Amino acid sequence: MAQTKYIFVTGGVSSSLGKGIIAASLAKLLQAQKYSVTIQKFDPYLNVDPGTLNPYEHGECFVTDDGAETDLDLGHYERFLNVRTSQANNVTTGRVYQSVIEKERRGEFLGKTVQVIPHITNEIKHRMMLLGESGEYDIIITEIGGTVGDIESLPYIESVRQLVWELGEENAMVIHLTLIPYLSAAGELKTKPTQHSVKTLMESGVKANVLVCRTEHSISDDIKRKLALFCNVKQEAVIESIDADTIYDVPLLMQKEGLDKVVLKTLNLPAPVEADMEKWKAFLQKYKNPKETIHIGLIGKYVELQDSYKSILEAVSHAGASSQTKVKVHSIHSEYLDPSNVEEKLKALDGVIVAPGFGERGIQGKIDAIRYVRENKIPFLGICLGMQMAVIEHARNVAGINAANSTEMDETCGDPVISIMEEQKTIEDKGGTMRLGAWKCALTNDSLVAKVYQAKEIEERHRHRYEFNDAYRKTLEDSGLKATGINPETGLVEVVENPAHPWFVGVQYHPEYKSTVLNPHPLFISFVEASLAYYHGK
Ligand code: GLN
Repeated sequence: MAQTKYIFVTGGVSSSLGKGIIAASLAKLLQAQKYSVTIQKFDPYLNVDPGTLNPYEHGECFVTDDGAETDLDLGHYERFLNVRTSQANNVTTGRVYQSVIEKERRGEFLGKTVQVIPHITNEIKHRMMLLGESGEYDIIITEIGGTVGDIESLPYIESVRQLVWELGEENAMVIHLTLIPYLSAAGELKTKPTQHSVKTLMESGVKANVLVCRTEHSISDDIKRKLALFCNVKQEAVIESIDADTIYDVPLLMQKEGLDKVVLKTLNLPAPVEADMEKWKAFLQKYKNPKETIHIGLIGKYVELQDSYKSILEAVSHAGASSQTKVKVHSIHSEYLDPSNVEEKLKALDGVIVAPGFGERGIQGKIDAIRYVRENKIPFLGICLGMQMAVIEHARNVAGINAANSTEMDETCGDPVISIMEEQKTIEDKGGTMRLGAWKCALTNDSLVAKVYQAKEIEERHRHRYEFNDAYRKTLEDSGLKATGINPETGLVEVVENPAHPWFVGVQYHPEYKSTVLNPHPLFISFVEASLAYYHGK
């Protein structure tokens, strides 16, 4: 079995430079050269996972097939690579400490003093190597969250230093992503912050092999030479990463700069062919040359931060590209929607998505919006909480169940059409305890969703505690809201649709997590097509 090679990606100068996108773009180029690649992310914060974080803190929580609540960068990895990730692909400091402390309680350290070095670093190294032990991957890219020089990153940087030493430089390398700021008063790109951050890395004994330089302006050969000389890397290893129109341009920009070639050379791996990016280019071609433009509303309560609904926005882009349509998404705050302004805010839209979410805030606005799109036959996709709100809206306004609500919003409501799942009733801990990950769903013959998926049974990912209350199923179905997707083991309603409406679907699961560039999700494709048809019919 060939030696698995390791690439570590660190960040310098500033956060938010897009390490995840660079890591995913490199992985894509290596994959296109027939290497099997995966990416993992190590986050230096103390939460055991991001599941308990408010989206305002850290953006969306991405859910994997195996039910891990993970960093949103794993979404980029899946969307770029078209391969699944798992719990092992995302590790936080909280998780590392948790397992070290559990081992200490079990007496596994045999009376030794437990310390950051070597116990925490050993645990980090063990987890950094874990995915490689399967022999499934030729190359593993490990993204280290945070910025070099942060106190909390130190154990990770030390672990990288040790691993490079243990594995040897041909088997492990470091890419440092940095910022080259442009001073407009001087009209110059500045290399000093990068020199300092590479020096900080070196003080910890880690040498960067490649610099990827985020910049707003093209970096001249002179500046590349200067960076190479002062940062101790080869000139060909100074890679420009200029601001792009879309994240989906980045793999091609990196290919042009030769990032994949310099990486393969450093790891002493052959580069047999020019990375075959034809399918990717075909996607971009359609994405960048839309024939029409439609307007979709995304109604949620975390709309101020784009990252809160990252996977939904990307899934919509993938679907738009597949029908060569530009989909302009308008974020609408559900807290500021009410019957007096709903028409004014929604009437110009060609389709509406009601987003997932938790808690009471902003739900009435979601219900008012759903009533408007149901009555006006505007295509509607409700995701998770969005589906639950569609059930409440239908119960109240069509079936005449005035007291309909979810027990999440009102524990003692008269008609809990959405109620807490039986197995959730005794759970008190908030972290990692929802109904998570991939579950099966059987689709009703002749339903809209069966046609959309072209399948009888599907598997989608979940993240919820509340469910459609089966006691109301008959009344709701009789009044026109059909349950057309059911979990075959538990009977849980996963999909509702309204056949009297041209396109009205609510799903308890999160289809957005499974949409990738090369495999846009059928539900989003169909929703965009329905919105396009609505636009044409106006
Ligand atoms: N709050 C709802 C539940 O727990 C919906 C969750 C979600 O939208 N992800 O069931």
